[in-house]
Amino acid sequence: MTERTILNDCCEDWIIQWGGFYRGGAAFSCPECATEWRKGEGPTYERPSDGRSFTRRVRRGPADEFPYLAAVDGQEPIVERCCAKILLTHGPRMPEGSFACPVCATEWSKRTDRLHGLRVPVFSKPGLAEPLTVQPGRTRPFLIALSEYSPPRD
Ligand SMILES: [Zn+2]
Ligand SMILES: [Zn+2]
Repeated sequence: MTERTILNDCCEDWIIQWGGFYRGGAAFSCPECATEWRKGEGPTYERPSDGRSFTRRVRRGPADEFPYLAAVDGQEPIVERCCAKILLTHGPRMPEGSFACPVCATEWSKRTDRLHGLRVPVFSKPGLAEPLTVQPGRTRPFLIALSEYSPPRD
């Protein structure tokens, strides 16, 4: 897994909450990671550094909806935004066993491993080449392949 994600969580959060307020053609940057963006026409956002575009979509449930950004070229992240948000927020405290994402219905299983002397939560789902864990990042935690985990330094 050379590329962690195709879209930083911070950029996705910013665009989902505030992107709709930019006019078409406006340039802006993510306040958290400084990635530059350009608003296209409609709910589309282009990343000039690599020319990739993303568009806002929603997954609808019976009584709620969940917005996310989908890659215009169809190359999606290995973990859905709904699953990533839930696992990062609640995953470490979830009981061991299975968990179904209420938004996209992905079936996850959680266990706890000992890694570098630390107990880390481990999440897997069908089709995932390698299980994931939570890596503390510079500004926020993110999901990473278990083999790429590095213990936090203090
Ligand atoms: Zn960002
Ligand atoms: Zn999900």
